[in-house]
Amino acid sequence: MSEPPTSTLGTSAKNAVNTGRKPLVYIISAPSGSGKSTLVTELLKLVPDLDFSISFTTRAPRGSEENGKQYFFVSRDEFERMIYADEFLEYAEVFGTAEVSGNYYGTAWQALREAERKGRDLLLDIDVQGAKQIKQRLPGAISIFVLPPNRETLEWRLRHRSEDEEEVIQRRLVTARREIENYDKYNYILINDVLPESIESLEAIVRAERLVRSGRALTDGQQSIVALADRCRLANIRDRIRPILDSFSPPEASG
Ligand code: ADP
Ligand code: 5GP
Repeated sequence: MSEPPTSTLGTSAKNAVNTGRKPLVYIISAPSGSGKSTLVTELLKLVPDLDFSISFTTRAPRGSEENGKQYFFVSRDEFERMIYADEFLEYAEVFGTAEVSGNYYGTAWQALREAERKGRDLLLDIDVQGAKQIKQRLPGAISIFVLPPNRETLEWRLRHRSEDEEEVIQRRLVTARREIENYDKYNYILINDVLPESIESLEAIVRAERLVRSGRALTDGQQSIVALADRCRLANIRDRIRPILDSFSPPEASG
């Protein structure tokens, strides 16, 4: 059996566990192919007391996906019943275009209630529309936007993941451009270039929010975790975002 992953952040932050208070809600969004699932999988191995919110969706399972693991797969009728019964904290139609309707995706209130009951924090992997709804309903939610280093790398990752047909890849790239424009509505921006560094930064963000909100005096080790997280704060990373956005813009018409 392989060894469980060990945090690169040191042991002093390990006591940053959420006990006896409302769950912290972390939102993570990214254009498809940026590496969000990879980062989330690693994060959940490293950080204790953090639950992944399993969304409901009307899309069909892909590959080895199982009902109740990655998603709860439901029919459109069932999803709409849940909408009318007010069972969703947020929901959205994702990947829709003027011609093709997308699939519904939604986070049930139940996920939040369950995290609260267990005294755990909650991680939501949702799109920009869902993130906006959560921020309105839960203003204290912490939002993280994952960006690829540039468009070329995103395209390369989508192709090498070998999961999608060419038409879907093209649609994902068009959607990516639109989604990326929402980066400035997020608290943190994570540029997923070198994977181990991105994992370390993501872990730092999650732990730093717990540490700061605990109101306790921080040790030197804990302060360096907060400093690492701060480097990803929107205000501190704006200069690095511009070239990424430019790589997604069509070339200026000449003349
Ligand atoms: P998403 O969940 O955002 O759609 P994935 O986690 O499926 O993206 O990642 C897309 C592809 O890119 C996968 O093949 C993954 O292994 C790869 N990948 C993720 N992060 C990195 C990285 N930092 N460097 C290189 N490849 C990466
Ligand atoms: P996929 O079909 O590739 O798993 O996900 C497509 C998109 O749906 C991703 O951007 C993902 O973040 C988003 N998504 C997944 N679950 C939810 C959800 O519950 N709500 C919203 N709004 N988006 C979701």
